[in-house]
Amino acid sequence: MAWFCNHYACDRCKKSWTDEWFATCDDNCPHCGARHMSPHQSDDLSLYPPSDATRMARLNDRFRRTLKGGRVVMTAGVEALTENAKAVLLLKVAAFEDFTVDNDPHSEHDFGSIDLLGEKYFWKIDYYDPHCRHGSEDPTDPDKTTRVLTIMRTEEY
Ligand SMILES: [Zn+2]
Repeated sequence: MAWFCNHYACDRCKKSWTDEWFATCDDNCPHCGARHMSPHQSDDLSLYPPSDATRMARLNDRFRRTLKGGRVVMTAGVEALTENAKAVLLLKVAAFEDFTVDNDPHSEHDFGSIDLLGEKYFWKIDYYDPHCRHGSEDPTDPDKTTRVLTIMRTEEY
C-alpha cells in the first residue's frame, strides 16, 4: 500500500509541517487550526515503507482524534454518564498522548486509560472488516478495516 510524507505550508499563518499518511490529502494546520490545507509536495515513501506498528499507530491516532473512519462504542457504564461528562471524556480520549511500554507494548497506540472526576476509564481500538462481521484481515489497510473505539469503565474491561 502507498505511503506518503506530505509537506504543508499554511496559507494563514505561513508555518509549515509534514505528516505521513497513506494518501496525499488535505490536513488542518497544527499551528493555527486553518482547515483543508493541501500538500505542496508529497514524497512517495512506498520504497521505504514504515513498519506495520508505525502505520497502525498513525491510523489509530488519526481516527481517535477525528473520530472519522470508524465507530465509537460506549459501554453501558459510560452511556450512563451525563452528556457533559461524555463530551469531556471523548475530548480526553482524543487528546491522550501518555503512551508507555506498559500500556502500549507494541507501539500501536490502541489502548489508554483516562481519569475523569476521580474515576478511571479505558479506551481501546479494535479492527473489524468493512461490514463489522469479522476481524480485519489487514488492520494496516484502511480500505479493509473498520476501526471501533470502545470507551469503558475499568471494571467493564
Ligand atoms: Zn496555520
